[in-house]
Amino acid sequence: MPIELPSLPYERSALEPHISGETIDFHHGKHQRAYVDKLNELVAGTEFADLPLEDIVRKAQGAMFNNAAQAWNHAFYWNGLKPAAAGGGGEPSGELAAAIERSFGDFAGFKQQFGEVALKTFGAGWAWLVQRADGSLALASTSNAATPLTGDARPLLTCDVWEHAYYIDYRNARAKYVEAFWNVVDWDAVAARMA
Ligand code: MN
Repeated sequence: MPIELPSLPYERSALEPHISGETIDFHHGKHQRAYVDKLNELVAGTEFADLPLEDIVRKAQGAMFNNAAQAWNHAFYWNGLKPAAAGGGGEPSGELAAAIERSFGDFAGFKQQFGEVALKTFGAGWAWLVQRADGSLALASTSNAATPLTGDARPLLTCDVWEHAYYIDYRNARAKYVEAFWNVVDWDAVAARMA
């Protein structure tokens, strides 16, 4: 059964003005779709053909890994966002807020450190908030398609810092995109990903 491009959980322009409908058209409709389409080409007729996407990411190498991981990373990215008008942005609460305080001091400190990881990720990649096996939270930077899904830590939130994520809206100003990103984070979705 082919891997499908998941629909977005909001309208194409619903993340505006932070992430534009035009960016969504390209990022979801062209880039993510291309990873999914290429992955389906690559798995056809192989032992991977009937595996769930997560299993392909964990087992594949090379081009198949790159396209599978990018397909998974993008779905995870979109599902961690929510229109500001629908409650996106703001601050986390409950156990997630407490875990952020334990691991980063406070929410402002967390945002600053996550932002630094996003800005210092060289070239194309992803910034991540992850939960370690002991329950503590940590930050991670991955290059290209690399994803925490192949490691021991549980991914909670990601910011795509490939240029295609922000070039239409912010040109080369990755910092402006990362600042805008906070306005559309779905903290309830992030909290639900905790172990
Ligand atoms: Mn992307």
